[in-house]
Order: sequence, then structure tokens, then C-alpha cells
Amino acid sequence: MAEVIDGKSVAEDVVRTVKALTAELVAKGKAKPGLAVVIVGEDPASQVYVASKSRTAKECGFHSLQHTLPAETSEEALLKIIADLNADPAVNGILVQLPLPAHIDAGKIIQAIAPQKDVDGFHFINVGKLGTGELDTAFVPCTPAGSMLLIERVRGKDLSGLNAVVVGRSNIVGKPMANLLLAANCTVTIAHSRTKDLPALARTADILVAAVGRPEMIKGDWVKPGATVIDVGINRIPAPEKGEGKSRLVGDVAYAEAARQAGAITPVPGGVGPMTIAMLMANTLASAYLAAGLKRPS
Ligand code: NDP
Repeated sequence: MAEVIDGKSVAEDVVRTVKALTAELVAKGKAKPGLAVVIVGEDPASQVYVASKSRTAKECGFHSLQHTLPAETSEEALLKIIADLNADPAVNGILVQLPLPAHIDAGKIIQAIAPQKDVDGFHFINVGKLGTGELDTAFVPCTPAGSMLLIERVRGKDLSGLNAVVVGRSNIVGKPMANLLLAANCTVTIAHSRTKDLPALARTADILVAAVGRPEMIKGDWVKPGATVIDVGINRIPAPEKGEGKSRLVGDVAYAEAARQAGAITPVPGGVGPMTIAMLMANTLASAYLAAGLKRPS
């Protein structure tokens, strides 16, 4: 049976380290890192994520700001808030919770965030830096960055020559994940909905990352024996066995059968999920170190 990769415990390690490095920064007489989270509208899932981000920021010892705006907020008003946060020296990281209401152009908002405060790593400057291997100054999107840390925990830092298959090519997970694996000298293939014979391709992977959004799509016999399987998917499916109307979370990988083949695998929940918020804290800390003229912590 595969080693179960405990994302919750790795995320707790990351948060502990961020907290310690925040204390070091403050001890040097520098301002504590500031994270501003902006939410527009009342999407219940977004509210849960935002509350959790603000709570973890406080736990790290950050200056934590939250802008909760009504759903009818105009694009212009939101751009003004972003401009103010860009200019505020107490703010090192700006996160606009997605999705935004349909009348606001999310792309325009993201590109309005100062690249050095773009701790989600979605600004073109940061996308470009990741794509060209400028990892010392890039902000890398949190979910792939967290997935990479989990891979390194299992396989060590030297991933040279390993075959990596990333299933999914979104801008927030699949593409940045593939770029990180490429920067780590893996031989990377990106698969998507038009890929032919995905099971055969997946079986070539020493590292298999699933970021599809389709419950338990990746079957046990798609997994190469001994592979590291990172399941980014979060899907809610009905669970009548738990009672009428109940549901449960599953990943994009059929966990039980994949765990019989894999060398190591992330569970859902408790795998990649907790890493996303932890890496947001790490990015905000890095931004604060850079703003203070210090070397970014590794
Ligand atoms: P998107 O919907 O943006 O992208 C899904 C990708 O999967 C697309 O590239 C699509 O291909 C591909 N795909 C869809 N169907 C198939 C198929 N049958 N075979 C092969 N590829 C397929 O999703 P995200 O990248 O935003 O998210 C992926 C999953 O990760 C979701 O479950 C999401 O909830 C989860 N997630 C988890 C996070 C966490 O913190 N753990 C954070 C972010 C996301 P094509 O491009 O051809 O359409």
C-alpha cells in the first residue's frame, strides 16, 4: 500500500515556519507582513475560504485586512480598492477571492494588482517569471506550489529525469504545476480533455498530478507501480450511505484502487487542500521580506 502524504501536517509545518520567520522579521525592527483579502458577494464557499485565510494570517502574526464588499460593487470601485492596497506599505499581499460577480472582469482586476503583491501568482508578470524559470522573484500560484512541496517531501529535491504527467491545463493549477515540474528537470507531459489514450499516458508517470475536477476519474490501473500521485481535485458527491441528502468529498483519483499501485498518494480531503492556504502565507511572507530589502526565505 502507498504511503499516505499528510498534507495537513506539512501545511502545519509551513505555517509554523512562516510564524517563526515573521517573528524574526519583527525582531529586526521591520513591519509585520500584511495580507489583504478582498471578497465581493456572498458565495458561501468563498466566505469559508476567506475566513480561513484571514484566520491563518492572524495565526502567522500577520497584519490581516479583510474587505467584504456587496455583490453589486462596481468594477471601478473594486479597482479603486486595489489601487489603494497597491499603495499601502502595510500591505504585502493582495488576494481577490474568485469567482467575482459576472459584471466584474476578473482578468482586469487580477492584472491591476501590483505584481510584487500578487501572492496568488496570477498576474502576467508572475506567470511569465514562472514560465522563464525566474523562480527567485516569481510568486507561484499556491495550489501547485503546495503540491510541489508535497512531491519533494516524498521524492526529495532532485526530481531530475522523472516522467511527470499533469492532467489538467488550467492557468491556476495545471499549467503552473507543469512549469514547476519542468523547472525541477522532470520530463513533463500535460494532458487535457482532448488527450488520446490518457490511461496509457498516465501509466508512464513517475509523478502523476490530477487537476481535472471529475470525481474519481483516474483509476488504479492508470497508475504506474510506485508512482507519486498528487490529487488536486475536490469534488462533492452524494453519499446516501451517510444519510439522505448527505455528501462527501472525493478527489479526481479513485483513491482506494490507486493507493494499491502508487508509492505515495495524497488523500482528499487532507492532501493538497490544506497546502493552498499555507503557501499563501509563505508567499506573503516572501513579499514582506523582499519589500524589507531582505533575501526571500527558501
Ligand atoms: P478547470 O476546470 O479550470 O480545468 C480542468 C482541466 O481538466 C481542463 O484543462 C480540462 O481540459 C481537463 N479535463 C476535463 N475533463 C477531462 C478529461 N475527461 N480528461 C482529461 N482532462 C480533462 O479546473 P481547475 O484546474 O481550476 O481545478 C481542477 C480541480 O482542482 C477541481 O476539482 C478543483 O476543485 C480543484 N482545485 C483544488 C484546489 C485546492 O486547493 N486543492 C485549488 C484549485 C482547484 P480542457 O482544457 O481540454 O477543457
